[in-house]
Amino acid sequence: MSTACEHQKTTIIARRDGIDYVECLDCREIFDAEDLEPVTVEMDDE
Ligand SMILES: [Zn+2]
Repeated sequence: MSTACEHQKTTIIARRDGIDYVECLDCREIFDAEDLEPVTVEMDDE
């Protein structure tokens, strides 16, 4: 957490409700692919 990550390397990890979720390969944070807002992924099975 010392330097700001620019999240330049991401991979899509999930798609839900038409939204792609991407994970930054550098900092392992997970984002909404559209606006790159960090999201909390809830592992609820429905
Ligand atoms: Zn990052």
